[in-house]
Amino acid sequence: MSIHSEFDYDFFVIGAGSGGVRASRIAASLGAKVAVAEDSDLGGTCVNVGCVPKKLFVYGSHFSEEFEAAAGFGWTVGKTEFHWPTLRDNKNTEISRLNGIYGNMLNNAGVEIVNGRGVVKGPNQVEVAGKLYTAKHILVAVGGWPFVPEFPGSEHVISSNEAFFLEEFPKRVIVVGGGYIAVEFAGIFAGLGAETHQLYRGPMFLRGFDEDVREFVAGEMQHKGVNLRFNTNIESIAKNSDGSLAVTLTDGEVIEVDTVMYATGRKAKTAGLGLETTDVQLRDNGSIVVDENYQTQEPSIYALGDVIGGIELTPVALAEGMTLAHNLFGEGGRKVNYDNIATAVFSQPNIATVGLSEEEAKKQYANVDIYKSSFKHMKHTLSGLAERTLMKLVVDKDSDRILGCHMVGSDAGEIIQGLAIAMNAGATKAHFDSTIGIHPTAAEEFVTMREPV
Ligand SMILES: Cc1cc2nc3c(=O)[nH]c(=O)nc-3n(C[C@H](O)[C@H](O)[C@H](O)COP(=O)(O)OP(=O)(O)OC[C@H]3O[C@@H](n4cnc5c(N)ncnc54)[C@H](O)[C@@H]3O)c2cc1C
Repeated sequence: MSIHSEFDYDFFVIGAGSGGVRASRIAASLGAKVAVAEDSDLGGTCVNVGCVPKKLFVYGSHFSEEFEAAAGFGWTVGKTEFHWPTLRDNKNTEISRLNGIYGNMLNNAGVEIVNGRGVVKGPNQVEVAGKLYTAKHILVAVGGWPFVPEFPGSEHVISSNEAFFLEEFPKRVIVVGGGYIAVEFAGIFAGLGAETHQLYRGPMFLRGFDEDVREFVAGEMQHKGVNLRFNTNIESIAKNSDGSLAVTLTDGEVIEVDTVMYATGRKAKTAGLGLETTDVQLRDNGSIVVDENYQTQEPSIYALGDVIGGIELTPVALAEGMTLAHNLFGEGGRKVNYDNIATAVFSQPNIATVGLSEEEAKKQYANVDIYKSSFKHMKHTLSGLAERTLMKLVVDKDSDRILGCHMVGSDAGEIIQGLAIAMNAGATKAHFDSTIGIHPTAAEEFVTMREPV
């Protein structure tokens, strides 16, 4: 029995991903009796089939370019060869280590781990593996799942979930989608040596990002050998006798590849969760409606992270989990600050961004100044690689406040994280101008752009 109520637990969490683990740990540290149900590996999407393995693959895929760049610096690199099973299996070993760390973290915090799929059986009841648990508060933190449309031959495609565990590395691959996951995987496949096509049904990928950034990245990816095809889609896929795939596009062209990966969005994982036994309200796409404290229409049930259909990023799920735990079991009154959330796309080259795009800023502010610089990174003066870097500042001319910072180039995420702090502190263009740069870096360009374009 819980120390606080007639229920078995104060807090029963469904899903041990980014949001669920953080919420349960903090709740337990605040004295609540907590259990978390997980039907797969601890750590959720980010640890198992998201941020972490993806970034490891991105690191792996950069080597081909580094070998090429080394010659200009006097190195003779011998025969190079990529062995997929080594990367895949080393990644798996690292992920297992992280799963163990998550288990220890939960155990040490006093959170009970319940293995199995949680199904809600009422406002205060969850069933896992045939056993019923009662709780004063239930948190639904079940995340999302890749969405693949149905069409003739769609049974032959994979999603990002399977891409992490491929038996064989494809020689030729099509990635379908225009979001960050598609862009990142196109870069990974190309860097690791696959002939890579990326298909997107719209005129330009990465919707929502600054226009300059979108176009710049498209150009850089094409330079690096990714065959970008916009305004097209797959009509059907047929499997050849040798196991390869004949992919027919909407314009009738047929491309032969070994793998087709769909990254065309993710859906909240609420199907079959038993929420119909409660007053929890779902949107048409399956995501859960919550108020600003993550409470659903059923007062004892909360939801956060990807399942509520907001900003689908790990640090956001973590912040929401921490906030909810403090509000339920701590001093209360906390709120997540959703302003200026910086984000990176580990495309090649990387994108990172915080604040408003030029297009958004011009809708909201009367006078917007744009500062922009595109240049060849010092490294590439000798590497012989054609890669260029883009930096862009969006400024409110009237208040001098920085509204947006955008970068395409190596380590963009590492650089923009610092600028996000400056923006949250209310930085103005004058603050940037009065900051002395670190020389020689690419980042110093952010404090030396003087003339608006
Ligand atoms: C390929 C990819 C790359 C990504 N890269 C990044 C990145 O670089 N940076 C970033 O910030 N974000 C990234 N994300 C997004 C990030 O992974 C998610 O935003 C984050 O994991 C959301 O956390 P969550 O707690 O809401 O859900 P999840 O982390 O998805 O956790 C949900 C958990 O619930 C479990 N579960 C589901 N249903 C049940 C049930 N009925 N019973 C028991 N357990 C259940 C699942 O198995 C899972 O472990 C990426 C995502 C993908 C797919």
